[in-house]
Amino acid sequence: MSSRGIRIKSTNEVDILRKAGKILSSIVAPLQSSLTSGMSTKDIDLKAEELIRRHKVVSAFKGYRGFPGVTCISVNEGVVHGIPGPRIVKDGDIVSLDIGIIYEGYYSDTAVTVAIGNIAPEVQRLLDVTKASLARGIEQARVGNRLSDISFAVQSFVEMHGFSVVRDFVGHGIGQKLHEDPEIPNYGRAGEGPVLKEGMVFAIEPMVNMGTHRTRILSDKWTVVTEDGKPSAHFEHTIVITSKGPEILTM
Ligand code: MG
Repeated sequence: MSSRGIRIKSTNEVDILRKAGKILSSIVAPLQSSLTSGMSTKDIDLKAEELIRRHKVVSAFKGYRGFPGVTCISVNEGVVHGIPGPRIVKDGDIVSLDIGIIYEGYYSDTAVTVAIGNIAPEVQRLLDVTKASLARGIEQARVGNRLSDISFAVQSFVEMHGFSVVRDFVGHGIGQKLHEDPEIPNYGRAGEGPVLKEGMVFAIEPMVNMGTHRTRILSDKWTVVTEDGKPSAHFEHTIVITSKGPEILTM
């Protein structure tokens, strides 16, 4: 079934996605707590790869359009799509980990920004606001709401706190593909777009910048950084819309 191109998942599919989400969370939790200053982003990716192997699932990112890692690792001014490599993370850095897996043919996608050691209070506030904006967005993922209610909730919360939302990259439907319809911007007016229905599965992922919302792509053709070099944070959950409200699958 579909609703304006958005695939509605059956209860059986949701069960598989629920398991996929549970596995992904049990990969991200130890990965996140293993992060320490002195590790390279390649070390972090190898750890993620080991966890993926241990859970007998498949990386959703490795080989996707030629991406070399299982994790997108974006440090400080990095917004998304950072390639794991020799960069050493150090005390005071923030590290965004974006990771996806495939379990029984279904995708799950999540992201978290982690503080290394002691970070500046304003950077901590960026992390807190970004995480809370994701919760605000998810809260709007309810039967009968419109898609842009999610977008509006994220943007208004972020801007109220003096930060900006990235426009160049958006959330997405997810299921048998990593990126399905619809695109889910983190900005926009309320009350627009498709009506939300039970069985829709979304990856909602605010990317929030301390300064300008503008981004640029580095010469590696992957790494997205803020145009002004100021920090950026990223939190993402895969969720399903149920008759009782949004259910976070990646927690
Ligand atoms: Mg995603």
